[in-house]
Amino acid sequence: MSAYLVHIDAGADPNALRAALVSLGLWLQPFGDADAPRAFAVLAGSAEVSPGVLADVPGVARVDHAAPKRPQLDAMPRAVDVAGVPIGAGAAPVLLAGPCSIESEAQIHRLAEEVARQGARLLRGSAFKARTSPYSFQGAGPQALVWLREAADAHGLRVVSEVTGDAQLERVAEQADLLQIGTRLMYDYELLKRVGSLGKPVLLKRGLSATIDEWLHAAEYCLLYGAPGVVFCERGIRGTDAHTRNVLDVGAIALLAEVHGLPVIADPSHAAGRRDLIVPLGRAALAAGAHGVLVETHDRPGEAKSDGPQALAPDALAAFGLASDSAARGLGVVA
Ligand code: PEP
Ligand code: MN
Repeated sequence: MSAYLVHIDAGADPNALRAALVSLGLWLQPFGDADAPRAFAVLAGSAEVSPGVLADVPGVARVDHAAPKRPQLDAMPRAVDVAGVPIGAGAAPVLLAGPCSIESEAQIHRLAEEVARQGARLLRGSAFKARTSPYSFQGAGPQALVWLREAADAHGLRVVSEVTGDAQLERVAEQADLLQIGTRLMYDYELLKRVGSLGKPVLLKRGLSATIDEWLHAAEYCLLYGAPGVVFCERGIRGTDAHTRNVLDVGAIALLAEVHGLPVIADPSHAAGRRDLIVPLGRAALAAGAHGVLVETHDRPGEAKSDGPQALAPDALAAFGLASDSAARGLGVVA
């Protein structure tokens, strides 16, 4: 049931009113002093009871519609259209694959062909990298975006690429169909506003230690400033163990997909940090309701300029079971 705020009559006994509302099948959150609440919020998951019926319950002063916390997100379509490829509820799970960094024109063309053959619908690759160390490879720069677009177009793929700051924002938006916000930038609200204003769908990675509410609010920024849709990407959050780079929060995927009905994909590469766990984690995410998996893919992972240890060879993508759909579509080549 939608969120209502049931205000309590000044002279009424809140406990008696609570019992009466609970007996109607409502879940309640009291507002105000714990011993003397002023109102009860009716929570999602409650029985359908009209506000008129609620208003007639003895002890109720009035019933308001509570203002939604994230109106843009509530109104967003449940599947986001990425240049004709839907991601979200009701759409087939999508494979997004490609290298961490675009390294050369030949490399991205080779990988585009391979990942299309494996059923990918989107080609990923970064031209600008947000790296932990300033001495690590920072990306091949603007020209790489043109290579990425041409390689994707040659194989019927859509493009997802990372935005790392103001300077390259528009260049990335010119070439990409889906604008990726990396984990380190999820809290950069000015960037989220500017990315939203470009009017393209956004792939919003979860911040390294972000709560789900913070993640949802970050999406609200993008939508409020003009993004037509946000696809959430769970890429692992900070854990305590060095055996895996991060902890894939499968519960968050299930919550977003199954409870909130929001489009969410998993990035098992960054979650695991190691090749041998990518497939099991990706499968777990799909089982939990993820609408796709984003997998770093490299044909020579040992030579990759970034994130080689967490890249799969293109042939290994078949293990996600998303390729059969592509065969029906002609190896991913879709107008
Ligand atoms: C990436 O996708 O290559 C990347 C840098 O991801 P994240 O922001 O999740 O670390
Ligand atoms: Mn990477």
